[in-house]
Amino acid sequence: MKRLYENGPFINIKSKIAHGLGKKDPKYLIIDLKRFMVKIVNDQNRVKNSEVFVLKGNIVYGPVPSRRLGRSLGVDLVPYKVCSYDCVYCQLGSTGQTVIERKPYIPLDAILSQLSKKLKSGVKADFITLAGSGEPTLNSELGDIIKEIRKISDLPLSLITNGSLFWDERVRKAAVGADLVLPSLDAWDQKGFETINRPNSGIMFNEMAEGLVTFSREYSGAIWLEIFLLEGINSTEEDAGRFREWIKRMDPERVQINTAVRPPAERKVSAVDMPGLDNFCRLLGEKAEIVASFKDHDAPGSKPGLEADILELLERRPCTLEDISSGLGVHRNEVIKYLDSLLSTGQVEQVERESAGYYRVRRDS
Ligand code: SF4
Repeated sequence: MKRLYENGPFINIKSKIAHGLGKKDPKYLIIDLKRFMVKIVNDQNRVKNSEVFVLKGNIVYGPVPSRRLGRSLGVDLVPYKVCSYDCVYCQLGSTGQTVIERKPYIPLDAILSQLSKKLKSGVKADFITLAGSGEPTLNSELGDIIKEIRKISDLPLSLITNGSLFWDERVRKAAVGADLVLPSLDAWDQKGFETINRPNSGIMFNEMAEGLVTFSREYSGAIWLEIFLLEGINSTEEDAGRFREWIKRMDPERVQINTAVRPPAERKVSAVDMPGLDNFCRLLGEKAEIVASFKDHDAPGSKPGLEADILELLERRPCTLEDISSGLGVHRNEVIKYLDSLLSTGQVEQVERESAGYYRVRRDS
């Protein structure tokens, strides 16, 4: 067995590929080093399977300062951009091929071994948060992961999810183990769903939203529903009225309103301004609150060294999120928090180059 990365789980590529070959009879294997996965394609160049995910870096990251969760110790349950959606506002970049198939994308033992090491180091956190670089409920071991984490930690456990798979009873049964579930609902009908979330073709809006309604009836923990507003797309008074209908049925404890303050995947989407968010919040009723931040009052500050390292890197050359993450060996989600702060204070700006978002130091600041 070949160990591929010192910090990540190791995977026997040979046997996994052989397994894939036997099952799917592919014509080619494509090793996509950027996404760290091996695709098995047929002669029409259609992806037949993505059997092997080679992981780079840490599965457990942070704690990162989170507006919603305080100090949040993040746990990645899927590799980078294994997601059922390709949201126009995603900060992590384009999903490429969305997926709906649940698999043990990151194995339970790899997660537990990194998490227990981190906990033993004496780290202080308010939550262990299952989230990461894609959709965590796509990990088919979610239920066992939650149960096993409970055995090694008393910290409250939160699950940040796009909510796309709650129509699946297995996902609902697994998610009930969390103390707090934070699903998204960015649209109120199929058209908006396709415009904003660009879901896998196997996911229909009504089925997805009814799954969340069913989950809210079965679950005794807290649900904080996030709505991501985009100017001119889902932020009118009519939209608020239609969201209200779903919120009434989902009955979350809180409704958290966010917007595209940070640079998103698609540069054409724009944030709703503060008066617009206030108005929308008022229309949604007393459970609604704004979690978007336009100012630097949420600046992380818990790792000044990391902020300085990012600035130093960007002084030398403009970098993508991925460049910074791999260059400094820090999880993307952690980098995003610090970039958010540097963008809000005007020390850093985002520029578009060759269709990719780059960050650079602002020379006029
Ligand atoms: S925002 Fe979340 S759900 Fe949407 S594409 Fe990005 S990772 Fe997936």
